[in-house]
Amino acid sequence: MHIERRDFLSTLSMAGAATLFSGNVLFGATRPKKDKLGIALVGLGYYSTDVLAPALQLTEKCQLVGIVTGTPAKAETWKAKYNIADKNIYNYKNFDQIANNPDIDIVYVVLPPSMHREFVVRAAKAGKHVFCEKPMAPSVADCLAMINACKSNNVKLAIGYRCQHDPNIQAYMKATKEGKFGKVKMVTSAAGYIDNRSNHWKQSKALGGGVMGDMGVYALQGARLATGEEPISVIAQASTTRPEIYKEVEETMMFMLDFPSGARAACQTSFGINMNYLQITYEKGWVRMEPQSGYKGNKGSMSDGSIIDFPLKNQQAKQMDEDCLAILNNTALIAPGEEGLRDIKVVEAIYKSVASGKNVKI
Ligand code: NAD
Repeated sequence: MHIERRDFLSTLSMAGAATLFSGNVLFGATRPKKDKLGIALVGLGYYSTDVLAPALQLTEKCQLVGIVTGTPAKAETWKAKYNIADKNIYNYKNFDQIANNPDIDIVYVVLPPSMHREFVVRAAKAGKHVFCEKPMAPSVADCLAMINACKSNNVKLAIGYRCQHDPNIQAYMKATKEGKFGKVKMVTSAAGYIDNRSNHWKQSKALGGGVMGDMGVYALQGARLATGEEPISVIAQASTTRPEIYKEVEETMMFMLDFPSGARAACQTSFGINMNYLQITYEKGWVRMEPQSGYKGNKGSMSDGSIIDFPLKNQQAKQMDEDCLAILNNTALIAPGEEGLRDIKVVEAIYKSVASGKNVKI
């Protein structure tokens, strides 16, 4: 049964049901409606510092009000730069007290992948909606635990798949969906950059590193979004040209996917090669994107001469605003936890294929 949010809330209020929910769980039922939801970033590394915090200066539906960090010096810098109140600054130990903080509606987990599960589950238990960076987690079991924790605490879980909010990516998804050039026959999808670091979590298995989860999900998303289908089997090969850096995890992964329609995809991802493109070959035409998963300037063309080059002020601001609107209006998220899980199912199958040298059913 479909119930409009307004009707749902008024029914709740008539029944005095607000008392059934914690103040943090059902936004709007027990607290005055805010114009902008409050976000707390967890983990103040590169992506939070250089990308998300600046994007949060441009958002209309949310604002940066809190931080969670294990480094007191970072807390001081951020407090001064973004005018963050002392009461909205947490560390990893006292993080659970965030449950009592009405300023914070959403917790955005921007930590190494192995830490995503713990902090998503703790945020959900604190009654906060959760945004979680990609890759969602190292395993399918982790993803399921995260989805279940958010469901049972009545909070939304969005994965930071910024590209799905980008009109340039949506343009090729639409071409496939509408059958503009007939059925998809073949996809070639690549995403990589050169990472020379040797002591970062991206080179650590225990912390959820490896190129497949980090950049590989962009190559995989390219193939999944281009076909609009879920792959049914995969064969993969891992390799490294720098074993002195990539001791525990792969530097490069190549994988071939089979889709139910008969479409196939050849995908590559690497920490040793700069590449970022997507080619979709249909029965009667093609789409080419380059780059396919950049922060800005994703663009391409189609075989009928159309150009894909929609202006986009800030991809992450659009992502966060759209996810906040889904929370405020209680509508579906563009990339919920289930979407993160779909990728991790394939990633697990890819590692199984590497280990066995065989084609693996998904
Ligand atoms: P980073 O290494 O720059 O930052 C990680 C943060 O986690 C640091 O503040 C670090 O202090 C903290 N941390 C806490 N415990 C840690 C531990 N045990 N080991 C290492 N760090 C620890 O990483 P990042 O590039 O900011 O990536 C964080 C997340 O954001 C990852 O999931 C990554 O895939 C994602 N990311 C997404 C995009 C995107 O375009 N969507 C881009 C970059 C990163």
